[in-house]
Parts: sequence; structure tokens; C-alpha cells
Amino acid sequence: MRVLVLGGTTEASALATLLAGDPHFDATLSLAGRTSSPRPQPLAIRVGGFGGVEGLAQWLRNEKADAVIDATHPYAAQMSANAVAACAQAGLPLGSIVRPPWRRLEDDSWRIVPTAEAAAAALGKTPLRVFLSLGRQDLHAFAAAPQHRYVARTIEVPEQAALPPTLKILQARGPFDRDSEARLLAKEEIDIIVSKNSGGTATYAKIEAARELDLPVIMIARPDKPTGHVLGSPTEAVAWLHGCAPGSRRGV
Ligand code: NAP
Repeated sequence: MRVLVLGGTTEASALATLLAGDPHFDATLSLAGRTSSPRPQPLAIRVGGFGGVEGLAQWLRNEKADAVIDATHPYAAQMSANAVAACAQAGLPLGSIVRPPWRRLEDDSWRIVPTAEAAAAALGKTPLRVFLSLGRQDLHAFAAAPQHRYVARTIEVPEQAALPPTLKILQARGPFDRDSEARLLAKEEIDIIVSKNSGGTATYAKIEAARELDLPVIMIARPDKPTGHVLGSPTEAVAWLHGCAPGSRRGV
């Protein structure tokens, strides 16, 4: 069975390992190309955009795909919308691995805002030391609030021209643990954190460290993301794909 996995996440990598070890599947992992040195994967990789819905639908036809799994990041809403439309057009089953968001606990001080621009405005006028735990694509929004000093942790060094004037970049890739996050926040004398609600365990330690240090978090809300058949985990995705195989009840 030929499967396209839309990736860029821990779940996509775990699914790639499961599919590579199962002779029923001939799978390709697709990455957006946001990082120049992605983690090694056990199956074929393709990198870069497809060219919208039409490009993806064409790719699926050319490659004779039988099914698609959307295992993209919770904030990659455009890719998910394209997957829904292209699978409908190509008549293919689409499963979507949906990672649950983090829930605010009693001792958490979160302010939820809709966008990175709103997060920059919510920081207020008084200069603060701000930890930005965001992708490099989102950093430019903070150029509009140049009174703050920023520490941003990204996988790649950002290239945008419009960045805040006092921005320190820490290049690192998760997972991170709570003690090292607490040490980092203390060392950088951080007053406030801006984060996405990515969910999962790999980047949750900063939220725990913020709770421990009594630091407020500005949380950028998740975008609405269209889905196919909702799947809870890579293992569930494999079981669902088996049911989609030509000749099975779902695949006929
Ligand atoms: P997006 O806004 O959903 O996608 C924009 C375009 O990038 C898509 O229309 C598609 O181009 C291409 N694309 C995205 N994912 C792809 C994939 N797996 N394979 C092939 N092409 C892909 O997503 P984004 O721009 O990557 O990121 C949106 C937000 O998600 C950002 O805030 C980012 O920090 C966060 N995020 C993304 C990733 C990731 O791996 N993409 C990982 C972590 C966090 P075409 O229309 O040309 O097909």
C-alpha cells in the first residue's frame, strides 16, 4: 500500500519507523523543508511544498498513492487544509494524527492570544525580558515591540530582515527537561514566556519551569485545522491504514 505521510513532527517520525518496518507499506515522508538538516528517517523523504491543493492532488495521482496521513504540526493549518481538499479531489482516505493541546493547570498563569502579533502587543509598554519559544517564521511579529529584550530558541537561525533589535538566538532542538529549562529562564533573567500550545512532551518542560518559577506565559492559540479521520497516535494510524488497504472493508 502506497502511503504519503505529511510530517515535520515527532509523531510523523514515529509513524515513519512503524511503516518502514511493515512490509505492507511503501511510504514516503514529506517535509516542508523548514530545517536544513532534518533528522535521519528510515524511509523515502521528499522535501518542499507541493504547489497548493492542485500540486498535492497531482503528486498523489503521479505516485499512485493509496492513502495519506497528516501528521503535521498543530499550527501547520495550511498544509492540513490542502490535504483535506486534495484527498477529496483524488478520492483518497486521509487520516490525521491530532496531538492534544496542553491544559492550563491551577498554578499556571496563561494569557491566551490569537496570533504572534497579538502576543507582541500583549507584552505591553514596560520593557521586559521575553523568552520566545516559537518557530523562526514567527519572530518578525516582535519587531513591532522593540522596547523588550528577547531570547528566542529556534532550530535554525532566522533570516528575516525585520527582527526585534535586541534578539538573542539560542539554537537548539528539543526535547528539553524541566531543570535545564528552569536554569535557562533564571540565567537569562526572563520575565515572561511566549509559546505556542504545541502539546506533547518534547517542549512541555518550559511550561512546567514557568509554573515552578511563577512566570507568566502568553500562549498563542492553535489555529483551526481541518482533519480527515482523527487518529490518536502513530500506532492507531498504522491500524487505520491496514483497514484502508485495497480489499479491506474500508479500502474497497
Ligand atoms: P503551513 O502554513 O501549514 O504550510 C505552508 C506551506 O508549506 C504549505 O501550503 C505547503 O506548501 C508547505 N508545507 C507545509 N508542511 C509541509 C509538508 N509536511 N510537506 C510538504 N510541504 C509542506 O505550515 P508551515 O508554514 O510549515 O508552518 C506553520 C506553523 O507551524 C509555523 O508556526 C511553524 O512554526 C509551525 N511548525 C511547522 C513545522 C513543519 O514541519 N512544517 C514544524 C513545527 C512547527 P504547498 O502549498 O506548496 O504544498
